[in-house]
Amino acid sequence: MTRPEDPSTPCVTRLAPSPTGALHLGNARTFLINWALAKQRGWRIVLRIEDLDTPRTKTGADVLAIEDLAWLGLDWDDGPVYQAADLSSYQEALTRLAGNGRIYPCACTRKQVLEALSAPQEGAHERRYPGTCRPKTPMQRQHHAREDEAWRVIIPEDDINFHDEVAGPQCFNVQAQVGDFLVATKAGLPAYQLAVTVDDARQGVTDVVRGDDLLDSTARQLWLYRLLNLTPPRRWWHLPLVVGEDGRRLAKRHGDTRLATLRAAGVSAEQLIGLLAWSCGLRQTIEPVSAATLLSKFDLAKIPRSPWVFTPQPPLGAR
Ligand code: GLU
Repeated sequence: MTRPEDPSTPCVTRLAPSPTGALHLGNARTFLINWALAKQRGWRIVLRIEDLDTPRTKTGADVLAIEDLAWLGLDWDDGPVYQAADLSSYQEALTRLAGNGRIYPCACTRKQVLEALSAPQEGAHERRYPGTCRPKTPMQRQHHAREDEAWRVIIPEDDINFHDEVAGPQCFNVQAQVGDFLVATKAGLPAYQLAVTVDDARQGVTDVVRGDDLLDSTARQLWLYRLLNLTPPRRWWHLPLVVGEDGRRLAKRHGDTRLATLRAAGVSAEQLIGLLAWSCGLRQTIEPVSAATLLSKFDLAKIPRSPWVFTPQPPLGAR
């Protein structure tokens, strides 16, 4: 299931913020590592704004994310590309899946459908769908998309295996874990799993770098690549998250670590990157450093394979 290496085509990665809130320290760490990997290896970088989660999208959060990335000293080659700007590729994928009898309509609860719009994060309590609406005979699968129905994809019982460059060999049974998952909402909006698959394929993404709360989503996406006959990325890099002292994913309850807040409090990008570089084992002490300067020291092997426990410390993340 991997793309053959072709040295003549450059590798491509993406920075894919969701404008559902301001970027925080955890996002900054993942984006910094993604950017450094790309720069070090000569990959192109696409900036993709994942703005399909309309109920949770906040006005202006896209502009702020772009400002935050620039403030950090990160750059990109293409974009920003906004997912919501053109829904036709997602519609085509849905039509193809429907035509091949791979998806079926489902009368789900509003809550489940809304949840499918965003990337499932650590701690999301995903329940397995028991297949209630799954058609019993292939004939019933010849169905065309209707506006008032959500759509689920038929997931086989087989395991999906893949190699992760950071987390090592992986094996997931998507049917046992979440069952036939949602690929579109009742309004025909693509769910996160479908949108990210279609985009990574059409943007020629060879290297997906993101938080390891999306490791199991990778197995779901690999099913969609197969069912849509699309070429999956060559490599997956899932990075350990930043957690609070309670071991949970960094969030508001751990103090305000939004980059905009730190910036307003007078923290410089170099101070923040110095802290992140230290957390990545790239420096022995916490000292200001720019993203560009850090590049020569960047070494993925040094990054701890366990979550980084962030301890609030003035002025960074002062409560
Ligand atoms: N936009 C997603 C997020 O911010 C990332 C999705 C991905 O990298 O696949 O959580």
